[in-house]
Amino acid sequence: MEKYICFRFDIDTHICLQKGVPNLLKLFENYNAKCTFFVSMGRSFDRSSFLKEKFKYGFSNKTTQGTFSMFSKLGVTNSIVALLLNPKIGAIQKKILQDIINHGHELGLHGGKNHTLWEKNAKNWNEEKILQEIDYGLGYFRQHQLPQPISFASPCWQSPLGIGNVLRQRGFSVLADEYFTGKQPNPEVSGLIHFPTNVLGQHGNVGFVENLRALGYSSEEILSEFERQLDSEGKYKMVFDHPFYIGIKEFEILSKMIEISIKKGYKVDSLHNISKYI
Ligand SMILES: [Zn+2]
Repeated sequence: MEKYICFRFDIDTHICLQKGVPNLLKLFENYNAKCTFFVSMGRSFDRSSFLKEKFKYGFSNKTTQGTFSMFSKLGVTNSIVALLLNPKIGAIQKKILQDIINHGHELGLHGGKNHTLWEKNAKNWNEEKILQEIDYGLGYFRQHQLPQPISFASPCWQSPLGIGNVLRQRGFSVLADEYFTGKQPNPEVSGLIHFPTNVLGQHGNVGFVENLRALGYSSEEILSEFERQLDSEGKYKMVFDHPFYIGIKEFEILSKMIEISIKKGYKVDSLHNISKYI
């Protein structure tokens, strides 16, 4: 029985795309393996919500809930650029996005005009507003001459109620908005495959390696947890992280995760390709 694993990378900041993605492209090339990138075309932050939270929770560098703070992940300079300039992400990086496609990976869409505003507000958006946001992202796919995406992931798993209708209208067929241990993908009657992230750290909403590392796991412990979850039931697996974190700080461990997957008989592939077998 063929088994499949998708390594999913969510591109949430300009640094993820400029610094993390090129490393990941090289790494996956070494294994002739394919993956799925979900790109935010618009901006990362909303300054007013960022400041509100910072004043509420402080500017501490400590880990909360098994994540690293932006300052410890991006470093001070990158964080300041991110906050002051808040540059658009995919909208201004045609070349790197085309490289992803030229390497045979999948490029899916991750939200709309602003990652944070989607996270905070999308659950209250009506279909018209969701459509506007998605059309903003699709506009850049066309402008950059990238193939029309078929996979979508909402920022921070915030899947609005009307998303299914909107995605089908725009030709998407895969939605990756759930995280759940042991759950397998399910094609709905309506034709949209819901593909869960099912290889999870202790906080499923955080990247697998980032979460376990922030909780103090050693590399050996992270890899043995990964192996244990690959051995669990179900022939479809998906694990996620962010390119800037894993593509730079955890390069070694990611290589080992790919090797373990291959050794255990998994085909390392994109959601687009895997969805053909569901
Ligand atoms: Zn995201």
